Amino acid sequence: MAEAEPIVGIDLGTTNSLVAVCDEAGPRVIASPNGERMLPSVVRFGSDGRVEAIGAAARREAETHPYNTIASIKRLMGRGVDDARDDAAFLGYEIVEGPNKTARVRIGEQLVSPQEVSAAILRELKHWAETALGHAVRDAVITVPAYFDDAQRQATRDAARLAGLEAKRIVNEPTAAALAYGIGVGEARKAQTIAVYDLGGGTFDISILKLIPASEGTADDAAHFFQVLATAGDTHLGGDDVDAAIVRLLLDETEVAPTATGRQQLRVLAERAKVALSDAEQATIVGEIEQETGVHRVERVLTRKELDALALPLVERSELCCKRAMRDAKVTPEQIDRVVLVGGATRMPLVRQRVGALFQATPYTALNPDEVVALGAAVQGAVLSGQGDALLLDVLPLSLGMETVGGAVAKLILRNSTVPARATEMFSTSVDGQTAIKINVVQGEREMVEDCRSLGEFTLRGIPPMPAGIPQLEVEFLVDANGVLNVSAIERRSGARVAAQIVPNHGLSREEVERMEREALAHARDDMTRHRVVDLIANSKLDLKWIGDRLRKLGAEVDPSYRAELERLCGALDAQVEAASRDWRSIDADAFHKTKEALDKASVRLHEQSIVRTLREDD
Ligand code: ADP
Ligand code: MG
Repeated sequence: MAEAEPIVGIDLGTTNSLVAVCDEAGPRVIASPNGERMLPSVVRFGSDGRVEAIGAAARREAETHPYNTIASIKRLMGRGVDDARDDAAFLGYEIVEGPNKTARVRIGEQLVSPQEVSAAILRELKHWAETALGHAVRDAVITVPAYFDDAQRQATRDAARLAGLEAKRIVNEPTAAALAYGIGVGEARKAQTIAVYDLGGGTFDISILKLIPASEGTADDAAHFFQVLATAGDTHLGGDDVDAAIVRLLLDETEVAPTATGRQQLRVLAERAKVALSDAEQATIVGEIEQETGVHRVERVLTRKELDALALPLVERSELCCKRAMRDAKVTPEQIDRVVLVGGATRMPLVRQRVGALFQATPYTALNPDEVVALGAAVQGAVLSGQGDALLLDVLPLSLGMETVGGAVAKLILRNSTVPARATEMFSTSVDGQTAIKINVVQGEREMVEDCRSLGEFTLRGIPPMPAGIPQLEVEFLVDANGVLNVSAIERRSGARVAAQIVPNHGLSREEVERMEREALAHARDDMTRHRVVDLIANSKLDLKWIGDRLRKLGAEVDPSYRAELERLCGALDAQVEAASRDWRSIDADAFHKTKEALDKASVRLHEQSIVRTLREDD
């Protein structure tokens, strides 16, 4: 069978645009030949009306070309000049009236339509896709905000045509975001209500969607099953406003009187700090700002707390929209089954926390919030080209587990488990005084981490120092009906906890599943032995350490001949541990096991003696 030409998915955004493709390994973003995953939606035109620069270059040089650099063109798509005037104040370029009262951008002597500007962006993304895929790309699914009217949707189609693309479907952005998470893909479609919270650079949208269950109709069009119950939003609310708030803070605190360039420099510093504060508790803003009278150097530490205080009023505005949308959709927070986060600004911890509290649900964050719309558009593209079945998920193709001591894997959920699936397991530490525990989530059938696929790593911090083996780490894996894995870990004694989300099947092709199964079979015996040896090493080390400590502590209370016997057995086990650590194949696992058992048996008396001593000390 000839390979069908894929239908790519395109997120034509106000701030950034992306292209993605979906095959049986799931959806993935297509990078530019230079490795960029996002194209800033900025185009610079020359005086002859031709595109002079696009994307990052156009954005970077916007200062020096304020009149012919076009950003945020999405705001003008399919709108009359009168409506567009409201936005003009926010846009640097000149908007004039074109035929039939449409909006046009004036660039020198030329009038350029919003469709032509969007076409330049789409053409560039088409080029990225063709370069990466190695063949022509003609068909696309393009996303638009749920509130776009017919004229705005038609303008988007026209832009595609100008770029040499056929828009096979125009899909609502929130619907695409849901599809990216597998919601609504496949047969097991159940009725559910989904809130999609999209906080981008300059716009905020909340959409409440209803997924129509499979019993009420089938079609080749996944997006078709989503009904928009309500939308609300604010066309001038986004991450950029957070940047502006930081800039205002800096201006209030210092004597700096920046020039236009200086203001832009401040904005760049502000955004950088904001982004850093999504991961860190504090960030240093440092740089030189241009003023009429020379440069001014700013240097200031900004904390997450301060940022949260600046951002809170903005987040609260978005919450009012959410409440309005729920009212319009006639749903309460308890009726919302899923919350999907979209837009780069939802990386802010404050946003995640407030949105989770508002809808009383842990939001979906496993996918990059700035990529999720493009990924979902690609999923719709795959469904349209008849590849949707490959995305069906009702059993897990490979086991899910985590790394334990010595690089072995503890499997929590076995392959072929039906979803939803849940498992918990208790772990502890192997080193004294460990205050952080690394959690490496892996997928595969082999016994060692190095032979499995790592899905992600995160760290549980804030554990008070305790001897090895004392912390009680409870790890839970939960794969929900959409195939999203929620991992959470809690250290019971301290209450320290951490959680993460992963989509295990993204990036996993059928061939890869088959290869991993084959390899697991071929190595089954070796793998078992190795896992056993690795566990023996870890447990023996704990035993040896404990016995050594006790012998020292009890001193002369231990009978000399008993002490000699224990020391001999410890020496023998230590030799096995040494040899096994150098090369696990060099030793006989059964002999190793016997040596350990001999010590276990002999040390029972030492345990008893030690307990008696402890009781005495407690008196
Ligand atoms: P749009 O939908 O408007 O095209 P995006 O979804 O790309 O926009 O979001 C852009 C916004 O996300 C910008 O304000 C940017 O500063 C913000 N952003 C990106 N990454 C982060 C991050 N790690 N933390 C906080 N904000 C971020
Ligand atoms: Mg967006």
